[in-house]
Amino acid sequence: MLFPAHDGAFPISALNEQLQSLTERLTKALATATDTTTLEDVRVRFLGRSGEITLVRRSIGTLPPGERPQAGKIINAAVTGLEALVDAAARALAFRALDAELERSIDVTFPGTARATGSLHPVRRAIEDACAYFERRGFAVVTGNEIETEYFNFDALNIPPDHPAREGLDSFYLRPGLLMRTHTSPMQVRTMQAYPPPIAIVVPGKAYRRDAIDARHSPVFHQIEGLLVAPGIHLGHLKGVLTGLFRDLFGPQQAVRFRPSYFPFTEPSAEVDTTCPGCHGSGCKTCSGSGWIEIGGSGMVHPDVLREAGYDPQTVTGWAFGVGPERIAMVRHGIDDIRVLFENDPRVLAELA
Ligand SMILES: [Zn+2]
Repeated sequence: MLFPAHDGAFPISALNEQLQSLTERLTKALATATDTTTLEDVRVRFLGRSGEITLVRRSIGTLPPGERPQAGKIINAAVTGLEALVDAAARALAFRALDAELERSIDVTFPGTARATGSLHPVRRAIEDACAYFERRGFAVVTGNEIETEYFNFDALNIPPDHPAREGLDSFYLRPGLLMRTHTSPMQVRTMQAYPPPIAIVVPGKAYRRDAIDARHSPVFHQIEGLLVAPGIHLGHLKGVLTGLFRDLFGPQQAVRFRPSYFPFTEPSAEVDTTCPGCHGSGCKTCSGSGWIEIGGSGMVHPDVLREAGYDPQTVTGWAFGVGPERIAMVRHGIDDIRVLFENDPRVLAELA
């Protein structure tokens, strides 16, 4: 007999004791079940239609009618707990079975699958490295529109209407007065018009020109523009800053050489050469034996450009330069054809990473 009679009725406390004992025995039985068949046997023995819990339910009939609903609730709650124990044991068995299966089927000594990791494009890296160099020196990095007005792209930069660059042959016009910017220089004027001096900015971005694609040209290319305007600024500062930039990018042996040139927006103007990193100046195929490579243009900001921007050329002076990230990447990696950088062959890019 499960429940001892007590004055002809069975107390709730005895029911609780019985359920407690049942729980303990079920837990023990589950611990010895090592496969699903044994586990199912345990479940049936305790929770099945003819299992122990059914006997407990039947005993409700021996309780005084007033206590039966409470006893029913207690048994239902106990059953929920018991079923959870069985489910947990079943899950543990399933995990153990999976582990055993994995141990049988996986050869941990087998070489893994190599996953290709991405890397920054050489042009992106050149831009980020150059901008980081200037940011460390207090320059702000600003970007601007790739669609520009004729005013900011040409007029404000002292590029007269009869300049060859103004003719549609060299520029992509969207409609009269509006074009794809041919350089990042419009941001010089835009920044100066927005802020009073001193100004120290670099402008990385894309520029567009109607060039046929060949080993040296592409109709879309990148520029990094630099501008420093403050009282007393002179070319010596520019040479120092650019020497530092190229040493940062190419190595400590780099020197800078200015060659007189002409740009409408600077006066005086200079082409910028730096030591050929391929031969460190002794002459090689990359530099055509000169020991120098051309890497950008520069000069002192033309007084007319300062005036147009609302600055007084009598109180402030400034320099500006532009270098090509593609050129930097080509020099860094010994590439002699710019198309390599735009074709984006993953095998080639992986070599340059
Ligand atoms: Zn060389």
